[in-house]
Amino acid sequence: MQYKILKKNKYQDFVKGLIEDYNFIGPTKKDKSVHDFVPLNSIEELDTNYLKTTIPPAKKILFPPNEKLIEYEIGDEIKVKPVIESSETVLFGINAWDINGMNFLDKFFSKDFVDENYWDKRDKLTVIGMDTEPTENNFALSMDTEYATDGFDLYLHDLGDRYFVRVNTPKGNELVEKYVDFDDASENDFKDFDKYMDDYRAQFSNKVNIKSFYDNFEMIYNDEEFWKKIAKNCFSCGSCNLVCPTCFCFNVKDDLKLDLKTGEKTREWDSCMIPEYGLVAGGHNFRPNKENRLKQRYRCKLKTYFDKFGQYACVGCGRCIEACLAKINIAEDINSVKKEVNV
Ligand code: SF4
Ligand code: SF4
Repeated sequence: MQYKILKKNKYQDFVKGLIEDYNFIGPTKKDKSVHDFVPLNSIEELDTNYLKTTIPPAKKILFPPNEKLIEYEIGDEIKVKPVIESSETVLFGINAWDINGMNFLDKFFSKDFVDENYWDKRDKLTVIGMDTEPTENNFALSMDTEYATDGFDLYLHDLGDRYFVRVNTPKGNELVEKYVDFDDASENDFKDFDKYMDDYRAQFSNKVNIKSFYDNFEMIYNDEEFWKKIAKNCFSCGSCNLVCPTCFCFNVKDDLKLDLKTGEKTREWDSCMIPEYGLVAGGHNFRPNKENRLKQRYRCKLKTYFDKFGQYACVGCGRCIEACLAKINIAEDINSVKKEVNV
């Protein structure tokens, strides 16, 4: 890791250079409360001062909601052509918890199998992070995701009159040397950065007791009444999965054309919260009720992948809380496991 300083009067030229040279994806205002990450053609469209983005930026770029995987042709022999679409892209202004969400997807899409569609895009992605204000539902501090130690090329922290820049990769270093002059960080810059991080962390007001959850969850796992109470209002709509930066489940669809000779396979985001998810051949559903599905979702996010990767499959972004019409709140539920055990 190298540490640099980008003066504010050089910021615009730096960003303009990136926009000119790359497929540049950054945050822009969508309506009065939500921003969206989209390809931008000018710095005027960029607004890094955002509070909420509904769809996590890295997930939608690397693992799109709907993606063609292969085309095939059935003749004397079956011809299969993989479809992998990617281009050199800069993802600008993504915050630390969403970078950590992407780091989780990196592990998922490489641990048991290497997903080429994901990795072709990931290898061509340059990630430039920036801190953003947490919403009242954000509990990233409790999940240790308010700060990213990996998964980015550059990270710009706004110290007011200058940016404190962490340079994490050779690719990041190339950008530092390419467009404008960056200065080396001085002792004073480090001190100001340390104070800045203390102040930034103080903005996270939503706290969860995740460490107690890990073991306590097992104790209440079979407590049907508890899970019925937690899931009582769930509509089984799946919105919580769709907005989550770490949810990775997908379904593969086969589209055979009317000529019955050609076709394609596509994958689409799926949701463990909808009843059809557990439906198998013969009509059996191994997760027929909503309390069972919610319990499973929490186990997947807060236990299973911690055991497998040493990282929770929840970064505490709070999106699922904001998206849930039934007001089911993962942060409150984590804390109510602790309360239940202490009754
Ligand atoms: S928890 Fe909320 S968002 Fe998720 S499926 Fe139930 S109602 Fe929908
Ligand atoms: S489970 Fe909810 S809070 Fe956790 S990462 Fe997913 S959307 Fe964010």
